Amino acid sequence: MVKRFRYLKPYGKGAFVDRFTTRANSLLMNELPEEKGLYGLVGLPLSKTSISHSGASFAPGTIREALSSFTTYSGEMKTELTEAIIDFGDVYLSPTNLIENQHTLYEAVREVLAENLVEYYFFLGGDHSVSYSAIKAYAEHFGDIGVIQFDAHHDLRNTEDGGPTNGTPFRRLLTDQVISGENLVQIGIRDFTNAPAYHDYALEQGVKVYTMRDVREKGITSILSTELSLLSKKVSKIYISLDMDVLDQAYAPGCPAIGPGGMNTETLFDGIDLLSSHEKVQAIDIVEIDPTIDIRNMTSRVAAYVLLQFMKGKQAQ
Ligand code: CA
Repeated sequence: MVKRFRYLKPYGKGAFVDRFTTRANSLLMNELPEEKGLYGLVGLPLSKTSISHSGASFAPGTIREALSSFTTYSGEMKTELTEAIIDFGDVYLSPTNLIENQHTLYEAVREVLAENLVEYYFFLGGDHSVSYSAIKAYAEHFGDIGVIQFDAHHDLRNTEDGGPTNGTPFRRLLTDQVISGENLVQIGIRDFTNAPAYHDYALEQGVKVYTMRDVREKGITSILSTELSLLSKKVSKIYISLDMDVLDQAYAPGCPAIGPGGMNTETLFDGIDLLSSHEKVQAIDIVEIDPTIDIRNMTSRVAAYVLLQFMKGKQAQ
């Protein structure tokens, strides 16, 4: 805005802005960088593929907005986040053709990666089916990748019983040989939330499965340090897939599949911090937030905080 009006500020700058405070949404940039930037964001707004009712297609917008709830300053690191997040926008989708939409998401991510404009990628869903498209594009671009999946569920359902829904992305990635089972780590899997057939399938495929009890007893830092050191010897890049329903329902009321016995936000943030400080961790997707059932945008705020935590980890590298 032109400095002509003394009492007006640009829309979206928060309720109160003083000259000492920078809101995190100001890091979002719509223009493409002239030189390669650090962070890029792509919205993958598909949720009609969800098994249960879901408005997760609205989450790319609410997560961006939730950045305005935070400042760019980390007191723990005594540092300010200053690097821009290049906002590539949301993928155009058809209102009716879901299978075609999944392909469009894949093509869109492929196109962004091919431009090589940034180092690290944030993909905002959408339901968890979008991770199939994003990870397929990512793996094709970078070669062998490992995936660390935070989730209450295995997401290993077969596609014969309902098509490529949000219950199937990791089954499809394994059967299409996009990733191998031994390079997939599932963290936060919950009791009374999965069928035995999928747990068995995970173990048959060599997937590393950590239940919530494992997280409580072994600790997130110890689990992730072990898995990072194993994965980084085998793959060229590591991708984080964060299904927000890994969190306990108390922390993530906006998830379609809420439940008790999940992770708390401190554990999740510590995990993201540790992961992103590893040089091979270069992308994260955040999925399964339905802003239409959320309470005070709590779940979108967690997602925005995760993005900042990721950037903080990278700054500490
Ligand atoms: Ca999931």
